[in-house]
Formats: sequence, structure tokens, C-alpha cells
Amino acid sequence: MAMQTTTYNRRPIKRCCPLFLLLVFFLASCGKTGSLDEKPYMVIQGFTQGTTYMVKYSSQDSTDYKSEIRQILYEVDSSMSTYKDNSIISRINRNEGLVRIDHHFRKVFQTAQRVSRMTGGAFDITVAPLVNAWGFGFTEGTELDRSKIDSILDFVGYRGVRLKEGQIIKDDQRVMIDMNAIAQGYAVDAICGFLDKQAIPDYLVEIGGEVRTKGLNPDGEPWRIGIDKPIDSSSARQRELQAIASIGERAVATSGSYRKFYVEDGVKYSHTINPQTGYPVQHSLLSATVFAEECVFADALATAFMVMGREKSKQILKEHPSLGAYFIYSDDQGNFQIDYTENVKDLIRNL
Ligand code: ADP
Ligand code: MG
Repeated sequence: MAMQTTTYNRRPIKRCCPLFLLLVFFLASCGKTGSLDEKPYMVIQGFTQGTTYMVKYSSQDSTDYKSEIRQILYEVDSSMSTYKDNSIISRINRNEGLVRIDHHFRKVFQTAQRVSRMTGGAFDITVAPLVNAWGFGFTEGTELDRSKIDSILDFVGYRGVRLKEGQIIKDDQRVMIDMNAIAQGYAVDAICGFLDKQAIPDYLVEIGGEVRTKGLNPDGEPWRIGIDKPIDSSSARQRELQAIASIGERAVATSGSYRKFYVEDGVKYSHTINPQTGYPVQHSLLSATVFAEECVFADALATAFMVMGREKSKQILKEHPSLGAYFIYSDDQGNFQIDYTENVKDLIRNL
């Protein structure tokens, strides 16, 4: 490919969609009342992980869990934010002596490694140096060519890191990890776990478009979400829906090439990296939405599917019939086409 021999100078990102955009928006009505049996719903919103979050839950006595929720989000950030100097992940990436991981890190690391094995390495948290080199990460991008990428690929690979006695062991000290593709999904699960402990029967938890729900919405119906059309210029005003999914009690995560990217010399670079080639993913799959029980798992898989493309992803889905997926891809004429697994057919209303 021509692309593999060209030298790219990393310039400032020319066009990047705002981080606060949500991939999905919620069709259930808002407010503190309105359910069939007059059950009040609380709504908590804010910013985390460079994006927005929203938690909506039923509560007979209108208990406000904002501080508990913020504490969970703070803990997740302190564990795995590459943008925080003192987070566990940053200390591991700097090879600081003894760094003990916490229970958040453990769960995310283990899920990441499981998804890496399941997807033949399409998902790989050791892509961090590549993400950085391409200018999407926590350090400045550099000048890139094939040999530079190959030299980075030498130490990229999920098999080069493991968990041992509460610490992350690296085969090569140059290995760095990036959990940004999975941390939002995990934080959703962590909040759901907290709400479950409070015996809250109905909730929707959403961070940056990754969602998990339980029970019913304020209208006494199954929770519904919208799936965006993968339009590059997606913005709060311009967004259009491709479908509505009645998700019931599930986790749903979407990964797309249309939100975070930059355009250089007319070429669009997605922030998802193929760990085998070292290059940003470029193919006809525009977005992958995954339905699963846990959001951490759905989030990782959605990213993996963007790397693998539709056909290979469908192979994985065949092997795991409990998972569902909704793909939006572009045909030869550049029109949006959709494809989804049989088990989500009854949940989806295409618009
Ligand atoms: P989005 O939901 O915005 O599409 P993702 O959940 O797909 O985002 O995460 C993309 C981020 O994950 C990138 O910004 C990068 O930090 C990291 N990443 C990129 N490629 C991979 C990969 N192959 N495996 C794991 N993480 C990746
Ligand atoms: Mg993801």
C-alpha cells in the first residue's frame, strides 16, 4: 500500500469531533416523576473521562447518589487514566518500581486480555506507543514512517504483559498500556454495581455513549437508545439517528470511525489502530455497536470489531451466540448499509 511507505509529519489535528458528543441519546423522557406507579426517577449528569455521563434511576425516597457516583468515577480515573500523572496506569507506563494495581484495574486488564485472545489480538491495550506516535495519545505525535512503526511494533503485543501477584509484569520495559477503549464501559459497570448494591430496580447508566440498563424507564417501558448515523460532522445539532434499540436489560457500546479522527492531506485517520499493521484502521465499517451483559466487554469488543471489519467480526459473533451486534458500513457507492445479528433483530427499529 502506498500509505505504508509515505512519511507523515504529525501536524496539529485539523479536524476532530468534540469529545463531549454522545454517540447515543436517550429517548426515554427525563424528570423526577412520571412512572406508571409514580415512582420518582433521579437524574445525575456530569463530565468524566473527557466526555459526559448520565445516570438515571428510580428511587422512592429521591436519594441522591451523586457523591458516591463521582467517587467511583474518580477512582476509575485514578486507576486507569493515561492523562493523570499519578494514576496507576501512568506509573506502570513510567516503569515506577512497585506499583500495586487495584480492583478496577484488575477487572479491566483481565477483560482486555480476554478480548485480545478472543479477537486474535485485534484488541490490544499495548497499542499505547502507536496511539501516541499517531498523535491520538497522551504524548505528542512524532514523524512516522514504516520503519519507525516497525520498530514500535517490535514491543507491541498483549502477550508481553501479565498480571502477577497484584502487579503488571512487562517483558520489555518499553511496553506501555492504554485502556481508553474500555475504561468508559468499565466505569458504567462499576456504577451499575453500586446501584445494584443499593437494590435500585430501574436504572440507565451512560458514559460517552456506552450504556447499561436495568428494569424500566420512567414511562414504565423497556429502556430505549438511539444509534447515530455515522456522519463525520456529527454534532449535537446535526446528529441523525440510524436506528432505535429497545435494549431492555443490557449493556450496549459503540465504536465508530466517525467521531475521533483527523484529516491530513485528504486522508482520514481513525483513532483505532490495527495492532498487526501499526496503522490506523481504514475500511468500510463505520460503526460497530455491541450488545452484551457487561459494558466493559461490549466496549472492548466494539473497538475490536472496528479493527477486524464486519466479516471477521461476524465469525466471532457466531462463536459467541449470547452477544449481539449492529454494524453500519459504507457500500461501494458510499451509501450507509446496515447489518445485524439475528438476536437483536426484534430490538431494533431502523429509521
Ligand atoms: P470510540 O468509542 O470513541 O470509538 P474506542 O472505545 O474504540 O473509542 O477507543 C478508542 C481508543 O482506544 C483510542 O483512542 C486508543 O486510545 C485506544 N485504541 C486504539 N486502537 C486500539 C486497539 N486496537 N485496541 C485497544 N485499544 C485501542
Ligand atoms: Mg471501546
